[in-house]
Amino acid sequence: MMPFSELVLASHNAGKLKELQAMLGDAVRVRSVSEFSSIEPEETGLSFVENAILKARNAARLSGLPALADDSGLAVDFLGGAPGIYSARYADGQGDAANNAKLLEVLKDVPDAQRGAQFVCALALVRHADDPLPILCEGLWHGSILHAPRGEQGFGYDPLFWVAERNCSSAELPAAEKNQLSHRARAMALLKQRLGLA
Ligand code: IMP
Repeated sequence: MMPFSELVLASHNAGKLKELQAMLGDAVRVRSVSEFSSIEPEETGLSFVENAILKARNAARLSGLPALADDSGLAVDFLGGAPGIYSARYADGQGDAANNAKLLEVLKDVPDAQRGAQFVCALALVRHADDPLPILCEGLWHGSILHAPRGEQGFGYDPLFWVAERNCSSAELPAAEKNQLSHRARAMALLKQRLGLA
C-alpha cells in the first residue's frame, strides 16, 4: 500500500521520470524536481547512499513532497571502489570516452582475475526533508572490466563492463535485457517491495 499519492523525483532527466512512473503505475503521481528548481545540490557525500539521501532531502525541501533520489556509478575492486561516486567525472568532466580511456590505462597491467567490478545504484526515499528514517535500497550488478571497449549500446562504462552470465559486454546487451539485470533494475525491484507494490 503506497503511503502517499504524490512523489517528487530528484532528477532533471525526463527519461528517468518516465521509467519510474511506469514502474510505480497509477498508485502514485511522480513529479520532477525541475518543477520547483533547476539548481542541483552539491554532492558532498562519500558514498552513493549519502549522495542519494542529500539529493532526496533537497528535493523534499524544495517541493514539500516526499522525494526519491538515485545515485549510481562503477566501483572497481582493484581500485578500492573507484571511480565510485566520481564515475561521471573520472576524467575531469571530459565525458564517457575519456572516462573509459582513463580506466583502461589505470588497469592496463592488471590481470583478469583482479578486474572484478560492480555497477552500483542507491535509491533514497524521504517522506519529508528532515525524515530520520529514509527508505534505502541498493542494487549491485557484478561483472569485470574488459581490456578494450565492446558494443555500441548503453552509455558510460557499458562498453568496458563484461557480463559473464550473458557472455557479452553490457554495451552489447539489448536495452530491455540490460533493464532486467542492471543495478538500477535491482534497486527499483527492492523499492517496489518496500512500498508494497511487488
Ligand atoms: P547517474 O547517477 O545515473 O548520473 O550515473 C553516474 C555515472 O555512473 C554515469 O555518468 C556513468 O559514468 C556511470 N554509470 C551509472 N550507471 C551506468 C550504467 O548503467 N552503465 C554505464 N555507466 C553507468
